[in-house]
Amino acid sequence: MCTSTHRPPFTLMCALLLAAAVFTGAAESASSDIVELLERTGAVLEWDEFTRTGVIWSGQDSISFAPGEPIAVANFHELMRIEPIVYQRGRLHVPETTFAALADRLSGPTDLVRLRPVRAIVIDPGHGGRDPGTHRTVTIGGETVTYYEKDIVLEMAKHLKAELEKLLDGPEIHLTRDSDVYLPLKERTEFAHSLRSDPLDNVLFVSLHVNASPLPWTDARGVEIYYLPATQRRQVLEEEIAASLEPEVSAILNDLKEEEYTVESVLMGKAVLDAIARDMPETPIERGVRVANFFVVREARMPSILIETGFINNREDLALLATSEYRQRLAVVIAAGIAAYVRDFEQLR
Ligand SMILES: [Zn+2]
Repeated sequence: MCTSTHRPPFTLMCALLLAAAVFTGAAESASSDIVELLERTGAVLEWDEFTRTGVIWSGQDSISFAPGEPIAVANFHELMRIEPIVYQRGRLHVPETTFAALADRLSGPTDLVRLRPVRAIVIDPGHGGRDPGTHRTVTIGGETVTYYEKDIVLEMAKHLKAELEKLLDGPEIHLTRDSDVYLPLKERTEFAHSLRSDPLDNVLFVSLHVNASPLPWTDARGVEIYYLPATQRRQVLEEEIAASLEPEVSAILNDLKEEEYTVESVLMGKAVLDAIARDMPETPIERGVRVANFFVVREARMPSILIETGFINNREDLALLATSEYRQRLAVVIAAGIAAYVRDFEQLR
């Protein structure tokens, strides 16, 4: 996974291992190697070699930084003026004053309970009303039936909501639509944003769709999950926070927040695939977690994934998707994956 030329989902994790291997040796004068800071505080470094940004985690507290920048950001919203950390020959050198400030910030008291609660989960059944999505007509025993994406995903979404409500006490679970109505894409993401009473509230966005390939029938089958790549820049920082900052600071903050959303989206997608692999051996997942540029994922300023639940023009997938029993089973398993992700997300990291 570390060798892919594209930005692989776990670049960060790979870079972390790499960083642990590289950041050894003596510190230079008037600065210390970041390893010393980590040892002193028991913190963990996530270093992204691709974007050259780092996040130091200590319990619930995080400090984001970029070498050469005179600011660091605590918990993704609180600015700290620092003497810049220096990246040199594969190592991170922390100036003395910065070392003291970060050590102090990282050794503060931590609250061990419900650290980053998820306020809401928005389930978005794709299409609806005059937009049926993809469809296929088949003749079974002389009877012709047409299956529409909008109906399949609506039924799944209702099961997913009910199941998540059973599994999770904390977050509110919402549907973007609960009937066969047309809903513009922008309204779906705007609805999700409206659920935040605070710009830093955690809201997750999960869109459900059915795949189709251009061929009349295809051998491709199974579940695919899409997330947005970090290189696809968005204004993820809420306007009210961005407006209160200097432009260059808000740009850096925006990049750091985006990086977090990308990592969180990949982790959520991975948790769903793990649940499917464990509980639904008949459903292939080799197509995996993929990079996408779908509107609903792009416009969601929050961890967000789009699940393609199967191919309508694959005969085996359609045979499964056509039944209420399978729609419910898949929803139950997706819910288990999302719930596992939420519990992980809310814990210490
Ligand atoms: Zn669709």
